[in-house]
Amino acid sequence: MLSAHEPLHVSTDVLVIGTGGAGLRAAIEIDMRGQRVLLVGKRPKADAHTVLAAGGINAALGTLDPADTWQIHAADTLKEGRFLGDPEAVELLCREAPGVIEELVRYGVPFARERDGRLSQRYFGAHRYRRTCFVGDYTGQAIISALVQEVERRRLPIMERVYISDLLTRDGHVNGALGFQLADGREVIVQAGAVILATGGHIHIYRRSSSRRRENTGDGMALGFGVGAALADMELVQFHPSGMVWPAELEGSLVTEAVRGEGGQLLNSQGERFMSRYDAERMELSTRDRVALANYSEIIGGRGTEHGGVWLDVSHLEPTIIHERLPRMYAQFAAVGVDITKQPMEIAPTAHYSMGGLQVRPQTHATAVPGLFAAGEVTAGVHGANRLGGNSLAEILLFGRIAGEAAGRYAQENAGLPLDKLQIAQKRQRLVQLHELEGTTQRALIDDLQRTLWEGAGVVRSAEGLEQALVHLAEIRGRAEASPQGAGDLAAALDLRSMLLTAEATLRAALMRTESRGAHQRVDFPEADPQWQRTIVVVPRRTDDGPNTGISLSTAELTEPSLEVAVVLDAVEIEAAGRLLE
Ligand SMILES: Cc1cc2nc3c(=O)[nH]c(=O)nc-3n(C[C@H](O)[C@H](O)[C@H](O)COP(=O)(O)OP(=O)(O)OC[C@H]3O[C@@H](n4cnc5c(N)ncnc54)[C@H](O)[C@@H]3O)c2cc1C
Repeated sequence: MLSAHEPLHVSTDVLVIGTGGAGLRAAIEIDMRGQRVLLVGKRPKADAHTVLAAGGINAALGTLDPADTWQIHAADTLKEGRFLGDPEAVELLCREAPGVIEELVRYGVPFARERDGRLSQRYFGAHRYRRTCFVGDYTGQAIISALVQEVERRRLPIMERVYISDLLTRDGHVNGALGFQLADGREVIVQAGAVILATGGHIHIYRRSSSRRRENTGDGMALGFGVGAALADMELVQFHPSGMVWPAELEGSLVTEAVRGEGGQLLNSQGERFMSRYDAERMELSTRDRVALANYSEIIGGRGTEHGGVWLDVSHLEPTIIHERLPRMYAQFAAVGVDITKQPMEIAPTAHYSMGGLQVRPQTHATAVPGLFAAGEVTAGVHGANRLGGNSLAEILLFGRIAGEAAGRYAQENAGLPLDKLQIAQKRQRLVQLHELEGTTQRALIDDLQRTLWEGAGVVRSAEGLEQALVHLAEIRGRAEASPQGAGDLAAALDLRSMLLTAEATLRAALMRTESRGAHQRVDFPEADPQWQRTIVVVPRRTDDGPNTGISLSTAELTEPSLEVAVVLDAVEIEAAGRLLE
């Protein structure tokens, strides 16, 4: 795939890798500071993963429920993240989220409104109040369209379909990146004062996921890790309760939580509304981890459907509500011959979101590596052991802005260092070697890795399963290194490289966490253990002379929430205790 053309050389103040919501918002901020920015994405600019986001974006606006406050939003996020979220990051997010919505309205996002003009807000699972703003069930698409328009209005340069394979460094500072154009293999070399990774998550390591092909392969996590940045919470992968189960090519595709938000009911093959046995109070509006585990338990308990799922039914709702509020879901199922106004949907859990990722400082979204920043799903911090639906869109936009501001400031204060030609030559040599590996083998190894992770580190885990998966992963790595040469597929070889790293980090951290908490469920350690209210951090292991030789794990303490959020959390506990006594 690499071409014989002269490489394309570009220089900028800040390079933003990724054109999803986080990357686009970061770029706008850098431009607002009057600095040069270059956006690069491996997919077309208006087609990043964010376009899949369906149900909505959260902010405690209190439009329909005036009692809502940012402190209650923060308390819900921390509590439902089973207290593994970073309180500083969570509080910043919830305090600033209303400003994110105001900004999106200014950019022209056509949020649903009540008759009197107030923004509509819907329920999402485990939120105490209605705080999810939405545009039908295509909120992500509407946000990306508005941001792309703003980026185009500002005439910011975007390089589409460019795959970034390496970050470049000098004297320990990140000062650029190396990649290639997917269309013609021409190399791209960018020199920059600072770099922001906004490359999304790593859920494609699972066979069944809500992501599309060749997205969410954990590239940014691997790129950052490769230059010394730490990863955190990698064991915490969200399994969404509802992904399609058939036909095979749509397996895992998301059935948005808005379906449950609008009143969808879960039924097993015996017609029982089974959530009453798992969370009688909140039923289908329970948290994603609980509903995913409930669906999984029904299926493996022999009460599943023909295709290994359960039923999700909205046929009791007025068809007009379904057409107005769930148009995408209606079309998604109509395309496979299911009319959801009359028939139930067949669904099962699917890997959906990376709660872990690069470790960053909340106030700047800087990694520990000078010159390297990160924002969006590629980072860890906010969601703990279970992300609340609707929090990610707010996160990517707020922290995109914050990373843009901080990276711009960094680039202003630190003159961009010249590129290291020897380093580029070495990295290019490695790319040529990867490019010579047969593409079919790389893709088969990816399939194998995805099966291994689904079986070994899925909705329910055990030491035995995780250990077996690690052994299998080592075999896959061995086969990748000994791959035959042939018609190459450099992108597949690079995807595999990132997936091997993020899969290993996920498996090792899952093995280390000997408890069950949120999305991390261990059959051999079924209870939550207070000792484990800690973050697992994964760092590169280095030999004395420098090269990265593997991964090393440690744990870190979490801080306490602020007094004003702690007060709300205490009140929630007292209320729950009161209900137990009733
Ligand atoms: C089906 C679905 C529905 C969802 N619904 C909601 C919802 O209703 N509400 C909510 O809050 N969240 C939702 N989410 C989650 C949310 O959409 C994502 O977490 C969020 O969009 C991530 O945005 P991002 O900007 O961090 O990354 P992404 O949108 O994933 O963008 C990553 C970008 O990085 C680029 N990239 C990656 N690697 C490279 C590389 N090596 N070189 C160059 N470019 C690269 C990609 O091409 C892309 O442009 C949903 C997710 C899914 C899958």
